[in-house]
Amino acid sequence: MSDLYRYFRQQKEQYGDDLYIDGDVLHAAALAAQGLTEIGGTVKESWTAATTLEQLDGLIHDCQKCPLGATRNHFVFGVGNPNADVVLVGEAPGAEEDKKGEPFVGRAGQLLNKILEAVDFKREDVFICNILKCRPPNNRDPLPSEVEQCEPYLHKQLAILQPKVMLALGRIAAQTLLRTNDSLTKLRADVHTYQGIPLVVTYHPAALLRNPNWKRPTWEDVQKFRALYDDIIAKERA
Ligand code: SF4
Repeated sequence: MSDLYRYFRQQKEQYGDDLYIDGDVLHAAALAAQGLTEIGGTVKESWTAATTLEQLDGLIHDCQKCPLGATRNHFVFGVGNPNADVVLVGEAPGAEEDKKGEPFVGRAGQLLNKILEAVDFKREDVFICNILKCRPPNNRDPLPSEVEQCEPYLHKQLAILQPKVMLALGRIAAQTLLRTNDSLTKLRADVHTYQGIPLVVTYHPAALLRNPNWKRPTWEDVQKFRALYDDIIAKERA
């Protein structure tokens, strides 16, 4: 819209109150009204043209592509370093996240911060988000149709961030990202790839609050995750 504003201001300076609207500008305005933009002759949804996380957030935070848009309190884009090398992904916002508009808050969020600190990552250094940006009612699992609508936003976040490694938090997030019904135990055993990015799987911090016996395997997972990250960085510097 700032381009349009500049255009009208220039027109007013040149022609006073007589209004001349260039055909291209009218065309762009008509596309913008439908949430579209034209890039290199191809019409795309305008959010796909975002080049920063801030821009992307601004373009999608009113999203109503799936029914969860109507029931959310807050859209939860994600939080963290816009230049992060490390991305953590959960399945969807819970009640606390929906209330605050931020992923992984409350007790689970505090535990996640401690897990990160245990392997020398700080919350503010990484980027944390979910596959779905809006809360499913009663914290039910994401529906395939919701994932289909929302996952392209995650792809775009990753395309902007270009992280070196990803950590999937919890069985549902891992199974959804990797399109598998394999058990969490099986998924934790391997390093996977998502959108070309190495991905490690571990427990969701909320699950650790319910079952502290899972803290030990989580510790092993995040150590593996840290080692993978260090290895990638070392190879890049070699
Ligand atoms: S869950 Fe995703 S696709 Fe559905 S309304 Fe929210 S942002 Fe849009």
